[in-house]
Amino acid sequence: MKVRLEDWTKSLEWDWVLSRQRIFATPIPVWECAKCGHAVCATEEQARRYVDPTTDAAPADRCPECGGELVGCTDVFDTWMDSSGSSLYNTYWERDPELHRRLFPMSLRPQSHDIIRTWAFYSILRSEQIKESKPWNDIMIHGFIMAPDGTPMHTSAGNVIDPLPILENYGADALRYYAATCSLGIDHAFREKDVVRGKKICIKVYNLGQFVGRYFEGLKAAPERPAELRSSDRWILSKLSQTIKNVTENFEVYQFDKAMKYIEDFIWHVFADDYVEMVKNRDDEAVRYALYTVFLDAVKMLAPFMPHIAEEIYQTRYAAFNGARSIHLTSWPEPEEVDEKAVEAGDTAARFIAAVRAWKAERKIGVGADISRLEIVGGDSAMYRMSGEDIRQGVRAKTLAIAERADLVETVTSVKPVYAKLGPAFKDRAKAIVAALGRIPAGELAAMIAEGAVTLDADGQKVKMGPEFFEVRKSLSLDGREVSTVQCGDALLVIEQ
Ligand SMILES: [Zn+2]
Repeated sequence: MKVRLEDWTKSLEWDWVLSRQRIFATPIPVWECAKCGHAVCATEEQARRYVDPTTDAAPADRCPECGGELVGCTDVFDTWMDSSGSSLYNTYWERDPELHRRLFPMSLRPQSHDIIRTWAFYSILRSEQIKESKPWNDIMIHGFIMAPDGTPMHTSAGNVIDPLPILENYGADALRYYAATCSLGIDHAFREKDVVRGKKICIKVYNLGQFVGRYFEGLKAAPERPAELRSSDRWILSKLSQTIKNVTENFEVYQFDKAMKYIEDFIWHVFADDYVEMVKNRDDEAVRYALYTVFLDAVKMLAPFMPHIAEEIYQTRYAAFNGARSIHLTSWPEPEEVDEKAVEAGDTAARFIAAVRAWKAERKIGVGADISRLEIVGGDSAMYRMSGEDIRQGVRAKTLAIAERADLVETVTSVKPVYAKLGPAFKDRAKAIVAALGRIPAGELAAMIAEGAVTLDADGQKVKMGPEFFEVRKSLSLDGREVSTVQCGDALLVIEQ
């Protein structure tokens, strides 16, 4: 973007045209001699107000060069000459010197990339000429929203997206979320599914508000930090601090899409999926403090993007304990020192919980359903012990064990022929083969398959079958109880349903 501005500036000659032949625009305060063409400018005194040389008198009666008649200029300024004054005008230049001194240069100019040569360039030029200063400290250049197929929207092409039905269907916060996901300087094809995602986030945040709100019922004041916090509480507070840092850094450089991504990941995955699942059954001072602090700061970070849902959460859950009248009047969250050990332990716990959740989903077992036992075998057992209770609650296990090793026993439960392969390969002998297979115990069959082939006698004929004709099911057991296993990093999760 900067290159575009530099290229344009370098390509300019000294006399590029800034007048236009139009009716409605700012008149150029100049009179020209009808005889010799000499130009007379309005005096500084005259130019303190609007001067129209086609109706106002020139500062001299006749041309000072030849005495000819002075005629008011009928050309007008290019429109960007007017808009180039916005940073001066909006900071009260020549109207309130004290205010102007405090406001100028402005902090930010947001604009799109199609007017770098015009609005940006003219603003910089004018400010330099008048104030010998830059007009603003930063310029943020964003792209266009295109039609869903990536082409520009035009009324004539009939591909203009009307924002009003989108607002009605999904709400203003959802549309703002979508706008925030568009990265700087790039044109984006409109994607309605991102607006849908925005609405889902609104609902998620609302539901989380309902959940955390239950922990604040009956409170007289905001919960104070207790002396003892659980590993999961230290973890979520550290994850919050990391998120605050990342979000703030991206806000500082106007990378709103990245900031939004950090907030979304934190609220949706880390806070809702992991922490809330770990603490759902707790009710103690530490969890109350962590839920209060973490969710308030998360909603504060969300507030610039999704102001309405953020304010709703604040007013219903936090305003009673917090001095500020609105979330938009609260201070920006400050990160604390990150507890690296707690982060590692908590991240690992979250991975274990996610693995067990996926195991449940595969078996169509509800995420909230209890399992009898989880044993974590191998890996860094000292670290797992730090968050043992958090893991146990997160996976909804009645008991949790952490062990260096486990003696798992594998047993064959069934061996079934794969009929879809048997038929085409053995045709009319298939029936006799199935009957012969039925006479061999599962354990014996499994042993033959493990050795490479099953040999049997079908209606007096010897048949040899490879492992591809069988489906062998095995079960694992630990101390006589049937279990399943999931490898998760260095650790083996042994799950007893
Ligand atoms: Zn003249």
